Amino acid sequence: MSKRDYYEVLGVDRSATKEHLKKSYRKLAMKYHPDRNQGDEKADEKFKELSEAYEILSDDQKRQAYDQFGHQGVNSSFNNAQSAAEGFSDIFGDIFSDIFGGSASRGSRNRRGSDLSYSLEVSLEDAVAGKKINLDIPSTQRCDGHWQVCSHCQGQGVIRAQQGFFSMQQTCPHCQGEGEIHDPSCNKCGGSGYIKENKTLSVNIPQGVDTGDRIRLSGEGDSGKSGNGDLYIEINVKSHEIFERDGKHLYCEVPIDFVDASLGAEIEVPTLEGKVKFKIPEGTQSHKLFRLNGKGIKPLRGGSKGDILVRVLVEVPIKLNSDQKNLLEQFKKSISKNDNQPLTEKWYKSAKNFLRGL
Ligand SMILES: [Zn+2]
Ligand SMILES: [Zn+2]
Repeated sequence: MSKRDYYEVLGVDRSATKEHLKKSYRKLAMKYHPDRNQGDEKADEKFKELSEAYEILSDDQKRQAYDQFGHQGVNSSFNNAQSAAEGFSDIFGDIFSDIFGGSASRGSRNRRGSDLSYSLEVSLEDAVAGKKINLDIPSTQRCDGHWQVCSHCQGQGVIRAQQGFFSMQQTCPHCQGEGEIHDPSCNKCGGSGYIKENKTLSVNIPQGVDTGDRIRLSGEGDSGKSGNGDLYIEINVKSHEIFERDGKHLYCEVPIDFVDASLGAEIEVPTLEGKVKFKIPEGTQSHKLFRLNGKGIKPLRGGSKGDILVRVLVEVPIKLNSDQKNLLEQFKKSISKNDNQPLTEKWYKSAKNFLRGL
């Protein structure tokens, strides 16, 4: 079977921006999502095709390869998937949970309970090492007291009304679509049928999570007549005093004094596993970047560990006393632009050339 053009599948033209792609994908994914088209094979096919197209076009490199070589140029993870759902790993933050997470999207009360989402702040250390934590989650549980079939809708949750030629269907106002009425004198829930309670969950934060990742705990959302919603834990990694994170790499800045920078020295830098020493060579200039291989983060989705990037900042001393100033004056007399200051020398040469041209 020949494949359709990915741009055509997403209903965009070839110059579409990423934002535009995403928008169009969201709209179509909502329409064809398996949850909304249960048992409809055509929708499943469409959804799979859509997901594949988006996987390729949302990735700059893959998109370029596709533009150049067509379907031959790219290899999608969906090619081998049996169904749309298998092509997805929706445990962690991808666009899938982006769309379907949140409380409004899945089912109404008469089907299953709402999904819940919980925003969790973790320290960089915990995000990198992983951690088991206990969370208190407020949720709504369906009361197990007495329920009675709604006589208004005969348990259907909907009622039909004839309007001219049309038969309209609407949510039963008597049971709010539940199909059942709860015992109004129930003293477990006060008659509402639902109980708000905090439940404690033990959650495994896997190694390497980053801001924007989501963990789905299936069935831990609100409870409803035909099952529970899911709980989504949204990870938010707090900023760190020393390190800035960039994916699997960590970045930090370390000040060194100008004597060490001139003579070379062994300096100590922090890593998430303790201090390490490394040598900076003689004549190290300010802002030079050093790479500590494999001292970064082990990525959540596998692959090699990242690095720590250390930028050294050469610090000019302040509040010098007169002795120190004298020493520096003497020192200054002893150095020459030509031999000791390549940057200065180069700059003066360029400036001279430039002025000559004016
Ligand atoms: Zn009813
Ligand atoms: Zn009750």
